[in-house]
Amino acid sequence: MTDTPGVPEQHQPGQRPSRANERTIMVTCATCPGARGFTSLRVTRIGGDIVLDPHFAGACVLVFNETAATALFDLLGEWVG
Ligand SMILES: [Zn+2]
Repeated sequence: MTDTPGVPEQHQPGQRPSRANERTIMVTCATCPGARGFTSLRVTRIGGDIVLDPHFAGACVLVFNETAATALFDLLGEWVG
């Protein structure tokens, strides 16, 4: 088993999602220097999880299970409408 820091075991290379389950959204990283809107956020669906990987770096990767993804979806719907 490989050990990539910050990447949950079930999301290791070799179990990569198809391109149909992967999108890139341009956002702003509030921590890193750089121009606004020029941070690549990779959003993937792996099984029942939604995985957010800013910078494609695999450093800090956020994994939303169905409950968390639904909560975020509802919140964004409320705030962005
Ligand atoms: Zn950053």
